[in-house]
Amino acid sequence: MKEILTRYLNKNISDASTEEIYIALLQYVKDEAKNKPMAKGDRKLYYISCEFLIGKLLSNNLINLGIYDEVASVLKENGKDITDVEEFENEPSLGNGGLGRLAACFLDSIATLGLNGDGIGLNYHYGLFKQVFNDNRQCETPNPWIQNKSWLTKTDDHFTIPFKDFTLTSSLYDIDVIGYKNGTNKLHLFDIDTLDENMVYDGINFDKTQIEKNLTLFLYPDDSDKNGELLRIYQQYFMVSNAAQFILREYMLTEKPLSELHKHVAVQINDTHPSMVIPELIRLLTEKGIDFDTAVDMVTNICAYTNHTILAEALEKWPVDYLEQVVPHLMPIIRKLDERVKAKYNNNPELAIIDEQNRVHMARMDMHYGYSINGVAYLHTEILKNEELKPFYDIYPEKFNNKTNGITFRRWLLHCNKPLVKWLDEKIGADYRENAENLQKLLDIDFTEELSKELLAVKTENKENLARYIKAKENIDIDTNSIFDIQVKRLHEYKRQQMNLLFVINKYLEIKAGKKPTTPITFIFGAKAAPAYIIAKDIIHAILTLQRIIENDAEVSKYIKLVMVENYNVTYAEKLFPACDISEQISLASKEASGTGNMKFMLNGAVTLGTEDGANVEIHQFVGDDNIYIFGKDSDTIIDKYKNSSYKALDYYIDDEDIRKMVDFIISPEMLKIGDPRMLLRLHAELIQKDWFMTLIDLKDYIVTKERAYKDYENRYEWSKKMIMNIAKAGFFSSDRTIAEYNRDIWKLK
Ligand SMILES: *Cc1c(COP(=O)(O)O)cnc(C)c1O
Repeated sequence: MKEILTRYLNKNISDASTEEIYIALLQYVKDEAKNKPMAKGDRKLYYISCEFLIGKLLSNNLINLGIYDEVASVLKENGKDITDVEEFENEPSLGNGGLGRLAACFLDSIATLGLNGDGIGLNYHYGLFKQVFNDNRQCETPNPWIQNKSWLTKTDDHFTIPFKDFTLTSSLYDIDVIGYKNGTNKLHLFDIDTLDENMVYDGINFDKTQIEKNLTLFLYPDDSDKNGELLRIYQQYFMVSNAAQFILREYMLTEKPLSELHKHVAVQINDTHPSMVIPELIRLLTEKGIDFDTAVDMVTNICAYTNHTILAEALEKWPVDYLEQVVPHLMPIIRKLDERVKAKYNNNPELAIIDEQNRVHMARMDMHYGYSINGVAYLHTEILKNEELKPFYDIYPEKFNNKTNGITFRRWLLHCNKPLVKWLDEKIGADYRENAENLQKLLDIDFTEELSKELLAVKTENKENLARYIKAKENIDIDTNSIFDIQVKRLHEYKRQQMNLLFVINKYLEIKAGKKPTTPITFIFGAKAAPAYIIAKDIIHAILTLQRIIENDAEVSKYIKLVMVENYNVTYAEKLFPACDISEQISLASKEASGTGNMKFMLNGAVTLGTEDGANVEIHQFVGDDNIYIFGKDSDTIIDKYKNSSYKALDYYIDDEDIRKMVDFIISPEMLKIGDPRMLLRLHAELIQKDWFMTLIDLKDYIVTKERAYKDYENRYEWSKKMIMNIAKAGFFSSDRTIAEYNRDIWKLK
């Protein structure tokens, strides 16, 4: 390794800068990837997604190539630290949250299992915005991540993408996806050469009408006005037309007859953003001489749809007018698809692709003209079948299937938690790396006081690591002897960060009143809010305001600390998950489709405090009642409350003095002195007048249950047994298992 690195550097390692070492390793890994076999097979999967939240790639690629330790030690021998080299790499900001991270984990598992499948998406130059806190508020700035030398490799591939009044020429960039001790696959990211990064002004604003200059600037550009919505359609069509043309070209090179395309190609539509791939494939097939009916049948046997949410606002519906303005050539096809559905199903409005208000329901198109519909956790799929998508389940029961999400253990254990990996290797051997279920061997070992102490020491080491990182990033000191109580995930009312905030308020008031916690607590939040999501930004503001109040209070800050970390991303996540004691998974039951943060925490030995929602249900089943803290109303109850509109936040507020005190603290003199009255008053009003995601319904139960967890934490031995159980039972949540199931039931690749 030393010779190789020296050759790539063209100088001694000890004389090279961090940047030079990074670039040398980057180039070396890219060359290694080229030498690895590409997955092959008679059938190929294309996973189309508008997000791939891949995270930094250097360390992960080194791990998957099996050379991480070797590289790290060679660097060390020459006075260099691999973590400095890791720091040099920018994190690709090609995703928003769980959905994008899932796509990244899936690519890792597809490559690791040696399956013939690639990812297809867009190469956003500024990605999702970067979050900065200014005056206790979230501000958005561009997040340029593409460095001079990066994992992107520009190819010679170009396609012509037709829009109503003009065409765009695409350029394709590839990123190698290196499987763990296996071959490589590709992530194909499409872009335009005419992009103008300089058109962005004042944060993340830009002229939304200049498509040839702005198309791939941002992931999820603001769509609160019509031009924003049109831009989203431009992005989506650009992605899927490139995908469809790419797929057909690759297929034609195999020299198999076009009429057999569906036997050799599967397309996974990740949420509704890529749905236009269905009419686009039909259009291209008919252009190549296939008759319309045959093309429809073929595409229906090619495309499969994953639903990620039951939140109505996320099921996209585009006005026909808008599609006519951007992609008029698709509308005749979509109309024909809609007419067939209406003819076959008696004009049932619940099944129509084009509704009475002239909007195209993207998910409905996927369900009629795809062969598989899957939810992402047991409970979620049941809700889809019995509630949200019931009319479709009634007509296509055979299409529905569940694929409980997973995470790649390469990134979320091997890479991010080296102290735990070392400990596991010693105790149960290393074969859990190949087969995650082998983590259950932990249950066979005699868990002595001695082992308990070792495991707790691993946790402490990770807490120290996080503390150093938070000190460097936020300039805040946190106490590694405190309980690390962590909620990191996108900010959304259904995830109920506001309920956790009310807990912290309650704790603050208790301490003020003389009731002090036995062990100090560090509350950590990390979350980005969508730029136009007002209440979400108010919640961030309230958290940051409370953070100021606590840090300015010498008495209280001996017992609790509140830290909202800035710009939560994959790199931060890799530090947070291993250091966590209590994993906050407190969504309103029925609303979190699966969650994957819950799995990462569990795998890293945190204990879940959560509702019976998403994959928490399965985590609960695996670890048993004693190793998880479950609270709150169940999903049937909540679904009923929505059906009969029986939740009234104001009743909870009026009837319960404790709740009233916590909620009212948001507009207390202390808060108003530091915070923005407009934002705090708005949040307060929202919580008592509307509270669409029922914060107050579970608040009391949440407080009692969390206090029980804190109390249990005091018995360090018993707590460490809970940790062990969580780690041991995490194997099911490996994305290798998830992908094996997708392949077995949907893709059928080998
Ligand atoms: C895992 C992950 C998520 C998803 O978290 P949930 O708790 O499942 O919503 C979001 N962002 C990042 C950076 C992640 O690593």
